Amino acid sequence: MSDKPEKFIDENGLRLDGRRVDEIRPMKMEIGVLSRADGSCYLEWGKNKVLAAVYGPRELHPRRLQKADSVLIRYRYNMAAFSVEDRIRPGPSRRSIEISKVSREAFEPVVLTHLYPGAVIDVFAEVLQADAGTRTAAINAACVALADAGIPMKGLVSACAVGKVDGQLVLDLNKPEDNYGDADIPMAMTSDGEITLVQMDGDVTPEEFKKAIEMCKEGCRQIMEIQKETLRSKFTKLEDVDISDD
Ligand code: UDP
Repeated sequence: MSDKPEKFIDENGLRLDGRRVDEIRPMKMEIGVLSRADGSCYLEWGKNKVLAAVYGPRELHPRRLQKADSVLIRYRYNMAAFSVEDRIRPGPSRRSIEISKVSREAFEPVVLTHLYPGAVIDVFAEVLQADAGTRTAAINAACVALADAGIPMKGLVSACAVGKVDGQLVLDLNKPEDNYGDADIPMAMTSDGEITLVQMDGDVTPEEFKKAIEMCKEGCRQIMEIQKETLRSKFTKLEDVDISDD
């Protein structure tokens, strides 16, 4: 028997979790949570819990993998075995390899890669608890962790998904909307609105697709504010430290 809800949006325009169609789930972030990593970020977004860690830039071994004119960025998205209802088999899967590739490509354009030829930056995104939207959650956390590591970037990248349920577009899908909805379109974009990731599962019309981009832009704008606030929280604390001699 399917657990598909009869309706996703009620007569007041509210979704199953009480959100409006254009509302993102509550998000909070904490920066610098891992002392061994050069940069790190812990993110909770709805019921998603993701930890991102950045190591580098550091010299890449073996040397034959080094790029002469830029840094090599490696990104590993991983779901913990206990992060979902049915245990996930540990180790890379087709899904995690694909997500790792497209996520790296989502933030690579903002990293000033030419500054560190021959070096590597390793980004790890560990999903501890999954509840739809984990690839976008991981990108949001990874971007803050990169900034925390002091990696020079042109700006931040934020990510969010738009989907379609009951014939309407909805921002930031929850689990039932992701599982049983008609479309799921995760996107990532820079602060200038340059899209660096689009994937699409399901069907939407060209008009709906254009509207989905606009909805996602607004979602990403809100997420970027939270990312910036998280970064500010660290650097304001540093400013508070009294470094005078007396
Ligand atoms: N999921 C799961 N087992 C899996 C993969 C995914 O239970 O092997 C769940 C998990 O909650 C995830 C959701 O399905 O967040 C949606 O997965 P999708 O592949 O669409 O990626 P996501 O939306 O998390 O980026």
